[in-house]
Amino acid sequence: EAHKETLGFQTEIKQLLDLMIHSLYSNRDIFLRELISNASDACDKLRFEALDNDSLYAGDSDLGIWIEVDRKARTISVRDNGVGMNRDEAIRNLGTIARSGTREFFSQLTGDRARDASLIGQFGVGFYSSFIVAQRVTVESRRAGDAEDQGIRWVSTGDGEFTIETITRKERGTTVTLQLRDNDADGEEGHEYDSLLDAYKLRQLVRNYSDHIAIPVRMKAEKWDADKQEMLETGEWEVVNQAKALWLRPRNEVTEKEYDEFYRHITHDFEGPLAYTHNRVEGRSEYTQLLYIPKHAPFDLWDRQQRHGIRLYVRRVFIMDDAEQLIPGYLRFVRGVVDSSDLPLNVSREILQESRDIRLIREGNVRRVLTLLEDLAENRKADYVRFWRAFGQVLKEGVGEDSKNREKIAALLRFRTTGEPIRIDVEAPDASGAAPKAAVAEDGIEDAVIKGEENTAGAADGKGKDAKDADEDVKNADGLISLAQYKARMKDGQKAIYYITSDSEAGARQSPHLEIFRKKGIEVLLLSDRVDEWMLSHLHEFDGTPLESVARGQLDLGDLEDEAERKASEEVAADYKDLVERLKTTLGERVKDVQVSHRLTDSAACLVSGEHDMSATLERMLKQAGQ
Ligand code: ADP
Ligand code: MG
Repeated sequence: EAHKETLGFQTEIKQLLDLMIHSLYSNRDIFLRELISNASDACDKLRFEALDNDSLYAGDSDLGIWIEVDRKARTISVRDNGVGMNRDEAIRNLGTIARSGTREFFSQLTGDRARDASLIGQFGVGFYSSFIVAQRVTVESRRAGDAEDQGIRWVSTGDGEFTIETITRKERGTTVTLQLRDNDADGEEGHEYDSLLDAYKLRQLVRNYSDHIAIPVRMKAEKWDADKQEMLETGEWEVVNQAKALWLRPRNEVTEKEYDEFYRHITHDFEGPLAYTHNRVEGRSEYTQLLYIPKHAPFDLWDRQQRHGIRLYVRRVFIMDDAEQLIPGYLRFVRGVVDSSDLPLNVSREILQESRDIRLIREGNVRRVLTLLEDLAENRKADYVRFWRAFGQVLKEGVGEDSKNREKIAALLRFRTTGEPIRIDVEAPDASGAAPKAAVAEDGIEDAVIKGEENTAGAADGKGKDAKDADEDVKNADGLISLAQYKARMKDGQKAIYYITSDSEAGARQSPHLEIFRKKGIEVLLLSDRVDEWMLSHLHEFDGTPLESVARGQLDLGDLEDEAERKASEEVAADYKDLVERLKTTLGERVKDVQVSHRLTDSAACLVSGEHDMSATLERMLKQAGQ
């Protein structure tokens, strides 16, 4: 009847378990966050499925999470009455990692603990983090809608195999029980697990990891027993978290720490966010948005199938992860939650494509994120550099993708340059928090007025500054400059913003095209990201000043050339007329034209692209791509 089998983990999981147990001990508490997070997801999923099929609740729609400790048996258990798992789901979900990019991710691991630990953090350890503290993990579950004798028990000691059998289980949902590892206080690293059994400490941890969770998390209440002189369980369950959706709480009632924890809950990121913005929007479309910018890029930023992004809720009901319609591709690093008051609960991905509400929310999200970035660039310069290093290449895609916001995005771009590096004064960390921006829609939203009274309005900017990191970033920020800064120090008579593209910054710096600019002391932006050519094909001017490639067409430095120079170069041209003719005949079809140039001061010759031709860098890229 029990039909018990022993199965092996996917190879990657074996690797993950090994690494985790050895690298993540100092972060061992995260297992609790992961288990609570899964239990909460399971409740969200049940609520979502029950929208179509009320009978799944079987009379119990009061969803919750229960956490219990058994000090004698040395176990901790986390139970939920969410959607549960049947046998197939347990085998699949707890025995394989289905995520795209998994294999590539594992190939990046090196065996260097610190480095791997941070990589694993970005990957997300999830359920398997249980094995950091547990020598045996038991999962008992019954899927909503299944009969009582269709329950399952999954057991593993985390060394490559698990067993699964069918059991009878009264409660719907899942219980995960951890048998803690033995203390090893004398061992190399002095591992100690008993403190997790300390109800007071555990309660603190649970509160930390669940305060932002929207459903109640309960633990057994305790009372001081005067006779026995110790805390004893009263037998009552008590709710330990606020159990209110964090994003629906007024901003002034949510602490930085809670914003931080919530971010980790939805992203599995080890580090907190770089910044966030939290707003309630009312008007033609009503919704709440809580959007975060991470500190570092995920390992699969360039993977087209990556599933990150924004979680969509409708009136507090979880609808879907990664609703890509809520944010454009060039802001795909943004994480967070949108809770709409207008969308129908049965909204599907197909409907999302067409929905007017979604379009308004998407535009509102873009506006908020760009405002947040402007704020960072203005007031938290070192953090902005950090952002730029992680996501600048992605943001550049927006210049081509989002013509409506092109000016704004252009102002956020940063460049390497031949000019003097601009140094950032690291502001003293501002403990009071930046004054929230004017609450009323400063960005002229005609369709979405942000109400002033409520405290969730306005662009809260999450702090999270780390002085040491900031210093590091400032050092690396040498030479990064904005288009506005470039313009501010243009030479008298200079009419364009000059740039050069190349495969690498070093290559750009060595280009003979720069000679005349160096001689004249004209600054040139150095572009070497793959996306740059494409971006530049959409960015012709900034704030009224044209952008010009130093390698293209007739170089006209206008007023920057003096009369004497012009005359001299005309004379030179006349002198070399014969040579030019001979070169033209020799090179024939291979070139369009040969000209005497004043571009060069040291080199003898250079290749120049026609005014309307492809640039040499783009040509090279296309060739590499086999076109
Ligand atoms: P993630 O939560 O990122 O999907 P996890 O490793 O945390 O990854 O969990 C793996 C999968 O196991 C989940 O996606 C879910 O399908 C299943 N699972 C884990 N815990 C539960 C639970 N308490 N109830 C139902 N399913 C669960
Ligand atoms: Mg999880």
